[in-house]
Amino acid sequence: MKLQDWHTHNSMCHHAIGSLEDYVKKGIELDLDLLGISDHFPYDYLIGMDGVPIEDYGMNLHEIESYISTIENLKEKYGKKIDLKIGFEIDYIGNQVERLNTHLNKIKSHLDFILGSIHILFLENGPWAMDDNRFLEKYNSLGANRVFLLYYQTMQKMLNSTEFDFDIVSHFDLPKKFNKFPNKNSKDLITIEISKTLDLIKKRDLTVEINTGGFRKDVKEQYPSEEILKEMCELDIPILLGSDAHDPNELAYEFKKILKLLKKIGYNKLASFSQRKRSFIEII
Ligand SMILES: [Zn+2]
Ligand SMILES: [Zn+2]
Repeated sequence: MKLQDWHTHNSMCHHAIGSLEDYVKKGIELDLDLLGISDHFPYDYLIGMDGVPIEDYGMNLHEIESYISTIENLKEKYGKKIDLKIGFEIDYIGNQVERLNTHLNKIKSHLDFILGSIHILFLENGPWAMDDNRFLEKYNSLGANRVFLLYYQTMQKMLNSTEFDFDIVSHFDLPKKFNKFPNKNSKDLITIEISKTLDLIKKRDLTVEINTGGFRKDVKEQYPSEEILKEMCELDIPILLGSDAHDPNELAYEFKKILKLLKKIGYNKLASFSQRKRSFIEII
């Protein structure tokens, strides 16, 4: 089957390589059906982010328009060879969704899809970029039990926030990135939190991304885990694939392998988005 990749970055975010056009060309070379461009939404509208190097994480607000117009131009140039969709990966920052929306609303009509993500957790002494390995010491001092718990509690807030408007939940079990996991005593508690989170996803009728970026990290597997995928399949939660490419060579990373796993689990279709409307394609 022709593949669709819904989670890709580019050099505009300051921590990925390759221009937007480089990704499009690579997508054509790989014979992808569709490329979902989903660079990080700017972080520079946020306040109180001391200790979080937001300048390394995304484009600036004033670059949004050129991001969109560049993709629109690429659509004109390459549209016959590959379907391009315009999106953003947006961080949920609980108390600043209203600020986000003042910027997002201006350009929302151009978007085909929005990924909702959590990379930043709020601790008593301020924000912490949980998946940035420069702050791994913090992870170690908190311990995986607390990190996983806080992460899922934050995700539940994201799912309960009617103001935070998005379509797809990214890298569902991201705290495992460094191959750290809750211990036996906490595992049951986390399992309950995961089920509560999936119920909220189901209730809101959202889609979950199968993110193959995890294969390139210490954990060496996709997000979410096979165990979680089985639970999602029972709940009939829609899914799609994302490579989280930060290099054109990472496009559609390990997608073939994942499709086999998905079929084994019982999934037979993948979601697809256009102008924020979901449709489905069959896994063949
Ligand atoms: Zn990134
Ligand atoms: Zn992400």
